[in-house]
Amino acid sequence: SATIIDGKAFAAGLRTRIATQVVTFRDAAGRAPGLAVVLVGEDPASSVYVRSKGKATREAGMESFEHRLPADTDQATLLALVEQLNADPTVDGILVQLPLPGQIDAQAVIQAIDPDKDVDGFHPVNAGRLATGVEGFVPCTPLGCLMLLKSIHPSLSGMDAVVVGRSNIVGKPMAQLLLGESCTVTVAHSRTRNLAEVVGRADIVVAAVGVPGLVKGEWIKPGASVIDVGINRIETGLVGDVEYDAAAERAGAITPVPGGVGPMTIAVLLRNTLVSAGRREGVAIDQTAL
Ligand code: NAD
Repeated sequence: SATIIDGKAFAAGLRTRIATQVVTFRDAAGRAPGLAVVLVGEDPASSVYVRSKGKATREAGMESFEHRLPADTDQATLLALVEQLNADPTVDGILVQLPLPGQIDAQAVIQAIDPDKDVDGFHPVNAGRLATGVEGFVPCTPLGCLMLLKSIHPSLSGMDAVVVGRSNIVGKPMAQLLLGESCTVTVAHSRTRNLAEVVGRADIVVAAVGVPGLVKGEWIKPGASVIDVGINRIETGLVGDVEYDAAAERAGAITPVPGGVGPMTIAVLLRNTLVSAGRREGVAIDQTAL
């Protein structure tokens, strides 16, 4: 039966390793790495995320700057705050929590963030850096997925990988990361024909769709590694995009929901913030030890 990939434990270990290097950074730079998080409005899920991010940031020994703006904030006000954070030398990372209210153009806000403080990796400059193999910031959730995969397969070279979902936040950067690891990558999406057959070829399946149980257990190639990014609330609780029990009978390794990919996102956000702080202050961060 499948190895259960314990993302919760992996993320806890990563956060401990980050905290160790934060101490080194603070000694060298004379200040803590700083992460600014901006929340517009009071969306309950977003409020929970922002609170968790602030708590995790402080627990890692970093400084958390939280900016809460009313739901009717106009775009110019938000852009002015982003400019202020871009110019603030104590801020190493800027994250604007999505989704934003309808009167604000999210792309305009993302593009206003200094790409060298864009720890979410959503700025087009960072998407381009990822696509061309230049050092930058990689979106947290797909980078977390890659870390989990590499804990199972230190080399992914030559493996057939299928990413289901093509969002800018998960699917596309995940595909780029797997390409960077020399996988043969297929990106499936809502218009894909015969998803069962496409998934069935894969040694690595990453599901990032948002439809409970879309990926059927019987589709999984025996021994494949399955990474389930989906977080779907149903009557019985949280489930992923993969039919977990049936998939676990065939897979070699699989992430549970909850406790798989979910906890990795914030841990990687802290990683990106530490790496940013190191770059900005010229303090060496050992990324191989993270
Ligand atoms: P999205 O809605 O932006 O994208 C969904 C993608 O799925 C689209 O590219 C679409 O083409 C594809 N799709 C839709 N229906 C399909 C179908 N029937 N067959 C094949 N493909 C189909 O979503 P997203 O932001 O990429 O998030 C995906 C899921 O991952 C959601 O459940 C979300 O909650 C979860 N998520 C989790 C984390 C985390 O663990 N921290 C982070 C981000 C997203």
